[in-house]
Amino acid sequence: MSLRHDLHSHSTASDGTLAPAELVRRAAAAGVDVLALTDHDTLDGLAEAAPAAASVGVALVPGVEVSVSWRGLTVHVLGLGVDPAHRPLAEGLQGLSEYREWRAGEIGRRLARRGIEGALEGARAHAGGRIVGRTHFARFLVDSGRAASVGEVFKRYLVKGRPGYVRGEWAALEDAVGWIRGAGGIAVIAHPARYRLTRSKLGHLLHDFRAAGGEGLEVVSGSHSRDQTLHMAAVARSSGLLASCGSDYHGPENPWIELGRLRALPNGCTPVWQHPDWPVQMTVGAEPTPA
Ligand code: AMP
Ligand code: MN
Ligand code: MN
Ligand code: MN
Repeated sequence: MSLRHDLHSHSTASDGTLAPAELVRRAAAAGVDVLALTDHDTLDGLAEAAPAAASVGVALVPGVEVSVSWRGLTVHVLGLGVDPAHRPLAEGLQGLSEYREWRAGEIGRRLARRGIEGALEGARAHAGGRIVGRTHFARFLVDSGRAASVGEVFKRYLVKGRPGYVRGEWAALEDAVGWIRGAGGIAVIAHPARYRLTRSKLGHLLHDFRAAGGEGLEVVSGSHSRDQTLHMAAVARSSGLLASCGSDYHGPENPWIELGRLRALPNGCTPVWQHPDWPVQMTVGAEPTPA
């Protein structure tokens, strides 16, 4: 019997809408055996998620999704199985939070120049006192009737060439992978098909990622089509990367994505949970237990 893995999810610690404990309970109800909580640039949800996971019999992989700037592009790198007490990781993420705080103010100022007042305060209300991301601005703009959906807000206001766009200035790839590895984690490129890279540019990214110590590629993602999944499976195989799978769940508001509802890893991929340092020890037929 194989375990159901979902290795990419968000809580209210970043831009998800379920509190960490609620997220874990929903994962259990959805039949997930092994869940990674991977909030954007923060480990803050893990302390609440861990006891909740233990009480419902879900093995929690402590994770994070680190925002990276690579050759002018924003790329997301998952850290799976990180020790939240590792100082360089915590300090690196602290730096990203400070950038996020500045960027939130800048997005608010840019939108105000286009006649949209109160966006920073509105986004802050959605963030509930935690780090403000673009998704929180998007939810505020939907609430205030500026667009019909979060997706539409991104297109009209928050991406390159639009009024609320601010260029990302995130971590260097080498630094992000270094923090993750230093904290005992496995670095995985998140949703690789989302970046729409040419074959050669993807090759450069994976070269730089591996040179930094990165080991995995998120082959199965809630945001990948079947063709993209098969393509990334071939890329993982040919570049010797372990394959990961995650829904990138952000909450029940998006009914297209559910925890644990994922395609199987295509044949020939080596799952990331076969890594010798994988944090969950599995015994077939028994409850998974954290190492
Ligand atoms: P940030 O890290 O604050 O720049 O925000 C990135 C997050 O915004 C992603 O993790 C997604 O949750 C969300 N996002 C990005 N693009 C879109 C889009 N086109 N539609 C809906 N959500 C998006
Ligand atoms: Mn997000
Ligand atoms: Mn992402
Ligand atoms: Mn994500």
